[in-house]
Amino acid sequence: MKISPVEQLFTLFNETALVLQEELSCTYLEALAETGENLFHGSVLQDEVSELTEKRLKKQYLEINLSNFSKEEIRKAFQLVILKGMKENVQPNHQMTPDSVGMLISFLVDKFIQQPTFRLLDPAIGTGNLVTTVLNQLQKNVQSIGVEIDDLLIKLAYVNANLQEHPIELFNQDSLERLFIDPVDAVIADLPVGFYPNDVRALDYKLKAMEGHSYAHHLFIEQSVRNTKQGGYLFFIIPNGLFESEQAHQLRDFFQEELIIQGVLQLPITMFSNKNAAKSILILQKKGEGITAPKQALLVNLPNLSNSLEMENMLKKIEKWILENK
Ligand code: SAM
Repeated sequence: MKISPVEQLFTLFNETALVLQEELSCTYLEALAETGENLFHGSVLQDEVSELTEKRLKKQYLEINLSNFSKEEIRKAFQLVILKGMKENVQPNHQMTPDSVGMLISFLVDKFIQQPTFRLLDPAIGTGNLVTTVLNQLQKNVQSIGVEIDDLLIKLAYVNANLQEHPIELFNQDSLERLFIDPVDAVIADLPVGFYPNDVRALDYKLKAMEGHSYAHHLFIEQSVRNTKQGGYLFFIIPNGLFESEQAHQLRDFFQEELIIQGVLQLPITMFSNKNAAKSILILQKKGEGITAPKQALLVNLPNLSNSLEMENMLKKIEKWILENK
């Protein structure tokens, strides 16, 4: 039986990560970042491994010629091994953005951003799966920037970007600290949801809580808006209850001042473990001179994303709305 390119790469990542996990006494995900970097450089970079292991790994890396694989094949294989590693232990807020959602965001970015060249920021880049899904779908010249607080996740994002040959500028820092970047045309983010522990830092935000900890997802929205050009678009994966919390009135005032709501696309509840965990895609535009609101925001209840017929109809409807409102 012929194995697919994705399976072939998955097997290589998996087998070599298991060897490195054992030799380096580290976690599977850490070993995965190491093996990805080795594969990219075509050599074994870890001094700690024995000569025999080094030989064995080198042989396996040499059997694969990355230039024979498409960027999407590399992304999918890397995504599958990360998923395997994340099954061992991962916080809910660290989870990768699922492919189906990434594809939908790609479609939206493509339709809303009409310039052939633009700057894109993901302030919660995680493993880089969402950003690279978008980059692989767009036939445009995109300069991308990613920020991530977690050392391991950003290393996975860096290896992921290298293997797929995407020159993403990465910053390993708290995204709610000052970002040293020029304003971008678009932001995409699968927002981390919950409380932000740094109350002092939160003081710098209009969306800080009046008392106690502020919501990280609110501050992330404000920070993203600050770093977006006037008229730029922001695509966020948000919890459905975003406008229902006790701090929602602040958010509403902030939106009124700074943003135009272009659309809310509710993801099917069946994608989530329960109703309270369900999410939507929020499409925003930063206000600015000559920027007008749509006659009516795009409000959609998405069908099951794997139902291709219903999805095709839905995408046609969305495209029609964009043509009529932009
Ligand atoms: N889109 C990502 C992917 O495809 O892998 C997943 C994003 S995940 C839902 C949210 C990310 O936000 C996590 O990787 C988490 O570490 C990161 N994060 C949480 N708080 C942060 C902060 N203050 N600054 C930067 N990143 C943060």
